[in-house]
Amino acid sequence: MTLADLHRYMNGLTGQVDGVYGAVWRDPQKGQLGAAASNVATVVKAYYLSLQTSVCLRPELIEGLTCGRSFGPRGRAKRMHESNPPAPKKNSPRPRFVSDEIVQALFEPGVLTTARDVMIVTWLHDGGLRVGGLCGLRFCDLHLTRHHACGQRADPHVHIVGRNDNPNRARAKAYASARTSREGYTLDGVIRAVSDDMVSTLYTYLLDEFHPIQALVDHEQVIVHLGGRTPGAALGTGAVRKILARSRRRAELSVRLTPHALRHNEVHPK
Ligand SMILES: [Zn+2]
Repeated sequence: MTLADLHRYMNGLTGQVDGVYGAVWRDPQKGQLGAAASNVATVVKAYYLSLQTSVCLRPELIEGLTCGRSFGPRGRAKRMHESNPPAPKKNSPRPRFVSDEIVQALFEPGVLTTARDVMIVTWLHDGGLRVGGLCGLRFCDLHLTRHHACGQRADPHVHIVGRNDNPNRARAKAYASARTSREGYTLDGVIRAVSDDMVSTLYTYLLDEFHPIQALVDHEQVIVHLGGRTPGAALGTGAVRKILARSRRRAELSVRLTPHALRHNEVHPK
């Protein structure tokens, strides 16, 4: 048995067979292994390393599997994860993060041009909300006082709810179902705490920009178009992406800036 044999075995499992042998031994009904292939590779490695005490294996195989390192009794488990040549190469894209400097750059004067946009970036970043959940927020979901009558969380919080009847078609992704209390506020859904910055940027937006055009608003959603052809209309997720793209250009940032990337910087308030 050589390391090349193990590579061939793993390639058979993951459907990356090259060479003349193909994968005839693999039951076609079973298909190919995806992410589980790394688990198989871990077992394969552990199996051959455990065999070396009782069976005479080629030294090259052991050396190949351990990358030339010998395993002492301690630290073995840690090193087992360190590298494993038969494991399939991971090429899945890593989530993109936005550094603190970039977030700071967005808040420089002249980059976010409305209080609403300041609120949007703050909420995506601090609250870890998905863009669909943010655009779908309604006033009845905002429980920003301590000990809100919903009784489901003592801190200020929001309920994120997937609704199918949002005017901007924003839909929170597959969230737990929600109810409405007799008093009209939201119960259940996904409950997220809000930071002080989230509350203050929301109120600035509401006072300065939402209330002046409130007469044009014929829905319950919090985030709206401020001008353009449809002032007062609920803001959709595409508009949020455009806002981020414009802000990125104004701040002269070269990074890709998506709602999702901001979300991954979340400093989840407790
Ligand atoms: Zn609540």
